[in-house]
Formats: sequence, C-alpha cells, structure tokens
Amino acid sequence: MRPPDRASELIGCAALVVAAGSGERLGAGRPKAFVVLAGRPLVAWSLDAIAAAGVPRAVVAVPPGHGAAAEEALAGAASGFALGLALVEGGAARSESVRNALAAAGDVEAVVVHDAARPLAPPELFRRTLAALADADAAIAAARLTDTVKEAGPDGFVVRTHDRSRLWSIQTPQAFRAAVLRRALDVPRDVLAAATDDAWLVERAGGSVRVVESPPANFKVTTPHDLAVAETLLC
Ligand code: C5P
Repeated sequence: MRPPDRASELIGCAALVVAAGSGERLGAGRPKAFVVLAGRPLVAWSLDAIAAAGVPRAVVAVPPGHGAAAEEALAGAASGFALGLALVEGGAARSESVRNALAAAGDVEAVVVHDAARPLAPPELFRRTLAALADADAAIAAARLTDTVKEAGPDGFVVRTHDRSRLWSIQTPQAFRAAVLRRALDVPRDVLAAATDDAWLVERAGGSVRVVESPPANFKVTTPHDLAVAETLLC
C-alpha cells in the first residue's frame, strides 16, 4: 500500500470518530463529546482536524438515543471543508462503537480511528499515522513516557520497575488497513469489551502495529481539569 501522505491519496480513507461514551468522570450531565469546549462541542474540534488533514469522510459513533443532539452539535463542525459526515449509534464498549462506524464507512482501503475526547490532535498527526501504513497493518499515535513506571501488587508494595525507554503511552489517532481492522473486530463481545484500544485487537490477530510519536497536546479530556487545560490551549 502506498503511503497516503497527500490529500489526493486520502480518497480511499475514512475517519471513524468514537463519541459514544457517557463521560461520567467529567460529570457534565451529558455525553462528553457534546460538552462545550471553547464555544463548540468537544467532538467538533476533532472533525476540524480530520477535515484539515484532507480525510474526505468521517463516521461518528454517538450515544444511542442522542441522534438529534448529535446532529445539532455537528451542524457547524468542519464547515468550510469538504468533509462528508455520517452518524451511527455507538455500542456498549468502545470497540463496538468502532465496529459500528466501520460498517458504515463503505468500501475504503484505510481508516483512522479517533477519540472525540482528544480535541487537540493536529491534522499532521492524522496524516502521519495514515502514511505509516506503508509498512504496517496499523500505525498508532503514542507519547513517550516521562515518568518512571513501577508495578505494585494489591498490597501497595512495588514488585517491579519497568524500562521506560521502551514504553509508550498509547493514544488516537490510530490508522488501520481497513481489511485488517474488519477481521480484528470480528470477535465475540467479551473480547471487544476487554479492548482499551483497537490496535490490541490487531496485535492479538497477529498484525503489525507501529508507533507514531505524537505531540504533548494530544491528551484525552477525561476530568474537569483536562477540560480546563484544553480550554486554555484553545483560547
Ligand atoms: O471512556 P474513554 O474516555 O476511554 O473513551 C474514549 C473514547 O471512546 C471517547 O471519545 C468515547 O466517547 C468513546 N467511546 C465510545 N463508545 C463507548 C465508550 C467510549 O464511542 N461505548
């Protein structure tokens, strides 16, 4: 597969944006993807970046029963860009939401999965993950660890210190050859429920997964503190 590093080469790509989480830890009283960040719904920031990267289509998985709110929230998203948008209902687990979105993506060669909860992913990161599919089944945004990582037992005592030079904190965007992701997602619901990212499903199916170093701003908005930091960076 050729590296899709120019907009004209992204025609066979779609973005799958997972926005179906409840966002309980944010405590905003509505799904996290629709919480207002710097004047716009959280999910709109990701769609802007996807459109600016030149990805022509995005399928957004939204919480069941929130279709109308989602349409309203997405009405102004990615305006000014030629981004085709479709909405699907998400599932009970994150990877179920990805599976539903992939089913609606049509006949594409590559997909890039992104958490709506990461509003600061830059367009170039989408392009770099997709380009890295040239020699991998999956290419995933990842941050180097700056803290030392220790493993502790249930009693709170440290049992091991890991070599952090080989460890990465895994994020999205995660780009996949579409056929590989489709096969990896074709597993029982309990396996999907155990997946904290989709690349793990590709790993367990024997696929090759490459890390792509991401910038520090690509954190996930989980708590009110994260939302305040994102607001500061965007304003
Ligand atoms: O819960 P967490 O923050 O790890 O979720 C990461 C992303 O996955 C969020 O953007 C969330 O909306 C999405 N998600 C989903 N469907 C679920 C659970 C989470 O689309 N069932």
